[in-house]
Amino acid sequence: MDQVVQKGGCLCGAVRFEVTGEGANPHGCACRFCQRHTGAPLAAWVEFACEQVRWTGTAGAPAVYRSSADSSRAFCALCGSSIGAIDDAPTIALLVGSFDEPDQAAFAPAYHSFEDGVPGWWPRGMPIVDQA
Ligand SMILES: [Zn+2]
Ligand SMILES: [Zn+2]
Repeated sequence: MDQVVQKGGCLCGAVRFEVTGEGANPHGCACRFCQRHTGAPLAAWVEFACEQVRWTGTAGAPAVYRSSADSSRAFCALCGSSIGAIDDAPTIALLVGSFDEPDQAAFAPAYHSFEDGVPGWWPRGMPIVDQA
């Protein structure tokens, strides 16, 4: 059986990726690093082993900024889109919103990290409104 291949990339398309096989540890994070990196109060992540990820766009691998002792933040140097986090551990965490098809059950967060960082004004238990 062929393994599933999923694609994604940045706003301008210079950074593109293909991931082969299942991701791990889908989770939300509201730490200050994720908030600054994405500009959003919450980030949704899914993790892959480095060998599962291929950079296929014209820019090749994304630019990186070392944000903490053991992790770097990856982004497109042309359009500024946040793409993921590359840990010194052999994993790459990709931001779910950068996938071409982000609405997948496999991306549903199993847990939050740093949930205390979610702003107090963020509505809890809010209804989902279909904007179609
Ligand atoms: Zn870009
Ligand atoms: Zn975080």
